[in-house]
Amino acid sequence: MDTKDGLIGSIGNTSLIRINSLSDETGCEILGKAEFMNPGGSVKDRAALWMIREAEKSGALKSGGTVVEGTAGNTGIGLLHVCNSRGYSAVIYMPDNQSQEKEDLLRTLGAEVRIVPTVPYRDEMNFQKQAGRYAATLDNAVWANQFDNTANRLAHYESTGPEIWQQTDGQVDAFTCSVGTGGTLAGTARYLKEKNSKVHIILADPMGSALYNWVTTGEATMTPGPSITEGIGNSRITENLQGTPIDDAVQISDQDMVDMVYRMLRTDGWFFGSSTGLNLCAAVAIAKKLGPGHKIVTMLCDDGSKYQSRLFNPEFLADKGLTT
Ligand code: PMP
Repeated sequence: MDTKDGLIGSIGNTSLIRINSLSDETGCEILGKAEFMNPGGSVKDRAALWMIREAEKSGALKSGGTVVEGTAGNTGIGLLHVCNSRGYSAVIYMPDNQSQEKEDLLRTLGAEVRIVPTVPYRDEMNFQKQAGRYAATLDNAVWANQFDNTANRLAHYESTGPEIWQQTDGQVDAFTCSVGTGGTLAGTARYLKEKNSKVHIILADPMGSALYNWVTTGEATMTPGPSITEGIGNSRITENLQGTPIDDAVQISDQDMVDMVYRMLRTDGWFFGSSTGLNLCAAVAIAKKLGPGHKIVTMLCDDGSKYQSRLFNPEFLADKGLTT
């Protein structure tokens, strides 16, 4: 028997997939964690499960409670799956610049979705701050607070990192991924560095984010943007990201990301979302820098199905000056 224990038992333990064309071309093993295989279809299922578990452990969330979160989508989707399986309700605050598919899916999954204007984090009407304030008005409710709740990075320290170590027999030379909350990079990097301090950790950043400059210059100043990627890039250093052992950063343009996503679709058969395209560009850049013979691991964060109206819409791309 090789079975998984229900929804919760189906989160994590994702396959590590060799991306054949990129590996053959670079002479490196370019390996991706198949996070699209999680029940909610993305890497964020891990964070959702750990944040809810930690809230249960601390007693903040009890039977019949409510989880409130500000999320651009995938964390909300993950939270809804875990909430439904545990009998909690969920209220999701979302900025109004996100794809319609993500909003529709959250409602289908049973969330009360509140769409709010897209304003910077420093503004009190920011979607995350509104979520926090609303949770505080309810009994038996928690604000998941994915950006600054370190249960998020703990998920990756306790699951993603050990899985990668095991799946590569400890033979991993570099790990790279993009950062939204930073949970994935922070937890995985900590675990891998503890196992072998020589593992290169490289942050992959889209344009219109401050993280590339933060890693390479120490100053979290924004680079020119915006980017059409969703769920990645940040203007600030979150609690999750603080203290992460990072060796270097690479910055990837939207055109390179689009080229990668369409190449994967047309010649390898994969249907990936934008952060995965960006991660694979970063993995190739690292392979070229390290030279042949290295194992480079990255995250296949989600598939393309939520991005029909943007990344897979020729008119949208043309409007942004992007070609396929
Ligand atoms: N890719 C996708 C598709 C995401 O939704 C997110 C989360 N916003 C990320 C990557 C980044 O992951 P993290 O929040 O762990 O940095």
